[in-house]
Amino acid sequence: MSLVVIVPAAGSGIRFGAGVPKQFQPLGGKPLLQHVVERFLLDDNILRVIVAVAEPLLANVKQTPGDRTSFVAGGATRQQSVANALAAAPEETTLVAIHDAVRPFFSNDVFASVVAAATEQGAALPVLPLNDTIHLVRNEMVVQSVDRSTLAAAQTPQCFRIEVLREVLERAEREGLESTDEAGLAAHFGFPVKAVGGDSMNFKITRPEDLMLAELLLKEWTK
Ligand code: C5P
Repeated sequence: MSLVVIVPAAGSGIRFGAGVPKQFQPLGGKPLLQHVVERFLLDDNILRVIVAVAEPLLANVKQTPGDRTSFVAGGATRQQSVANALAAAPEETTLVAIHDAVRPFFSNDVFASVVAAATEQGAALPVLPLNDTIHLVRNEMVVQSVDRSTLAAAQTPQCFRIEVLREVLERAEREGLESTDEAGLAAHFGFPVKAVGGDSMNFKITRPEDLMLAELLLKEWTK
């Protein structure tokens, strides 16, 4: 197994305010992206972590020889950033995991399950069941409730055999399909995609209140 991790971090999403994209917001004094990259680098099975960042930031990146992290310029969309990172994967790569820069609390066990499932089936992702009742709402009015038993919330790390991810991205490009979830695209094109049980600690830090929660969780994790 030659496993590479891609972290798309080239977005300019500044919903937090302060002009800093969310993947660079500090958690415990360190940018979220750095937490994620360092956690993957603890895993000796990972050949390389490839981070897509906005082109102007590339000049600030310090690369040292023997470093298992590479930085590439992102594209106009998340999907294009993933494609740029994939193009930089070493030749021997057989499996590719894609992980959100803003999910620092992924579990090693879930990651291992996703990698094992993707090795076998071609593609896999962690999902969580929905606990809240889901309504279809239009113009601020409830239209109907949706049967949540058939729904699941997608998480990352998602993992793919490299030939599957390549074909999925190439087909999406050809057909002009744009998605923020490669596993969904793979399923759309008819590839088997295994859904493994996710972890509620692995939440996406997108709002200031998520960051507050993350600070508390980090204190627990590092106790
Ligand atoms: O903005 P959004 O939350 O959908 O972005 C999802 C992820 O994709 C973020 O980590 C963001 O940095 C990344 N992204 C990217 N290249 C883009 C746009 C978003 O790598 N052009």
